Amino acid sequence: MTAPEYGAEALIVCDSLVRIYQTDDVEVQALQGLDLLVDEGELVAIVGASGSGKSTLLGVLSGLDAPTAGRARVADWDLLAMTPKQRLRYRRSTVGFVWQQTARNLLPFLTAVENVELPMAFVGARRSDRRRRALELLDSLGLADRADRRPAELSGGEQQRVAIATALANGPKVLFADEPTGELDRATGDEVFAALREANTALGTTVVIVTHDAGVSSQVRRTVSIRDGRTSTEVLRRDAGGPAQEFALIDRVGRMQVPAAYRRALGLHERVRLELEADHLGVWPDDHGADDDHEEERR
Ligand code: ADP
Ligand code: MG
Repeated sequence: MTAPEYGAEALIVCDSLVRIYQTDDVEVQALQGLDLLVDEGELVAIVGASGSGKSTLLGVLSGLDAPTAGRARVADWDLLAMTPKQRLRYRRSTVGFVWQQTARNLLPFLTAVENVELPMAFVGARRSDRRRRALELLDSLGLADRADRRPAELSGGEQQRVAIATALANGPKVLFADEPTGELDRATGDEVFAALREANTALGTTVVIVTHDAGVSSQVRRTVSIRDGRTSTEVLRRDAGGPAQEFALIDRVGRMQVPAAYRRALGLHERVRLELEADHLGVWPDDHGADDDHEEERR
């Protein structure tokens, strides 16, 4: 019997994803064997410091960039084995994106409703259907009265909400957002988050948000931390607004990262003692230093 494929049930699978950037004689390992599973219907935040590899990950998942090694799958698409034509179809229909730079999301000379219609025109939707759906999307995001304004006539938060509507135009399975609130103040950022949650709950779109702002974990059920190009810990809330629990992730060979604060508090380093209990695992500092080990032998 063969073991089921890693993440067989998940909508998004990243399996030991590696992305190395080679510039002249410098090599940057932006992703260093990243594992991530996201289920259909989830709203997930991926949080990490600047330079931790978040945009690189979204670049791969959105089909813009190819990983150096590892496996990445979204729905039925193997992101390492797509032809250019499939890639285009993937980018137009399966996924939607909202970028940090508001200017990158919308065309300045089109009105809000025209911006939302544009991706539908690319896939050949009928003109009347486009207009109707675009207005419905704007309405569901609270922008019905902004439909005829150009981006420059909208606030930053409104622009990002129009960007969300545009990203949702072709009914993607997944919406990716890279620092969607990065250029906004807290209150406006919360508005944009509400719009992303609306896309998730009302339309059932799976939403993946990456940000350096650890505060988002109060806005979502699941927050995955990324450090040095790998996922490390996860914060989960079983019910919305409920208490948060922190989890460490175990990779397939059993490696787990103990948060630095815990390692410091108990002096855990190099080697720990493990004890299997009926329903949990005990972890103790190795209180025999290197010298004591020898003492043990002498006894
Ligand atoms: P984040 O979005 O979390 O800030 P990035 O994914 O943008 O992180 O970058 C991760 C690492 O890869 C950083 O060290 C960054 O300098 C490097 N990097 C990103 N893009 C490129 C590129 N096109 N060429 C070379 N290095 C890059
Ligand atoms: Mg980034």
